[in-house]
Amino acid sequence: MSVILGRIREIFGADGSVGKVLVFEMGKAAGHSMYTMVKDKLGNPDTVPLPELLNVYSAIGWGKFKVTEFDPRGTANVNVFDNFECAYHQGEGRNSYSQFIRGHLTGLFSRIYHTNVVTVETQCIAHGDPYCNFQLKPQEDSSNKIKDGVMRFGV
Ligand SMILES: [Zn+2]
Repeated sequence: MSVILGRIREIFGADGSVGKVLVFEMGKAAGHSMYTMVKDKLGNPDTVPLPELLNVYSAIGWGKFKVTEFDPRGTANVNVFDNFECAYHQGEGRNSYSQFIRGHLTGLFSRIYHTNVVTVETQCIAHGDPYCNFQLKPQEDSSNKIKDGVMRFGV
């Protein structure tokens, strides 16, 4: 996975907005798919404990995910230790690096909360923090509600 993300960044430019948006949107779509996959297998992802759901990320080698806050009204805080996306660039950047994991969390939590969320990486191992931190909250100007996996406009 990191090879694919690295190649996308090479093609579109590591610091360019096109590459970042592309990687973010790939992650977001994958987050939506993960929710749908869990729903198909287990019936209702909302009944699966969130830490167990995020253990899937750890199992596939994306890092160790720890939910430190979760408010069902739409906010969460997630720490990621050894984030595969940022680990390769550990200590070399001034900015947060994650686009794919940030997108994946955005996609997954948008489905869990049934509304669009915004995810900000506030700490990152790429610029020397001990772990990557992601803060999620509902998109303020969101009038787009997601219900039953279908985005509805003006609801
Ligand atoms: Zn990071």
